[in-house]
Amino acid sequence: MQDSDDQPHFRFNPRAYEPGQAFEASDKICGSCARPCVWEHVAGVYARTEVTLCARCVAAGGLEGVLGGRYSFHDGEVEDCDPALEAELMERSPGVACFNPFVWPAPGGVPLAFLGYGEEGALPAIPAVEAAMAAAFAELGWDAGPSPHAMIFRTLDGETYRVVVDLD
Ligand SMILES: [Zn+2]
Repeated sequence: MQDSDDQPHFRFNPRAYEPGQAFEASDKICGSCARPCVWEHVAGVYARTEVTLCARCVAAGGLEGVLGGRYSFHDGEVEDCDPALEAELMERSPGVACFNPFVWPAPGGVPLAFLGYGEEGALPAIPAVEAAMAAAFAELGWDAGPSPHAMIFRTLDGETYRVVVDLD
């Protein structure tokens, strides 16, 4: 059985529990809290040591002790933002799969929420997503349609989209 304590919500990565994302159902023992994971973190962690981590401990942060010092769940940086929000994103939110390190958008000092990639499901059909993708590719001088290289982000209030182009 699980309760919401075992599956904390990550507002900057709200899809973290979907198949192929940051967590997998697991009864392995967490290397930090020593309880069964329920949701085991299977995405990247950039740290000196590697340990099994549960979603509870990812959300709680303060893992320097078990990870051998400073750590991040992200292969990249975040745009200038409030230090508390930066810590929430880098140290208490799971990362997302990418081909290259990228800079997580944080317009106005608030990190955006990652929604997915540009060829997934209904995302490219949203006019604001289509426009953001076109703008991002136009900046590179390309005329590209829906693409797995488009990483789609949205403001926490859900009003504005931003696309980061991640080339392989
Ligand atoms: Zn744990």
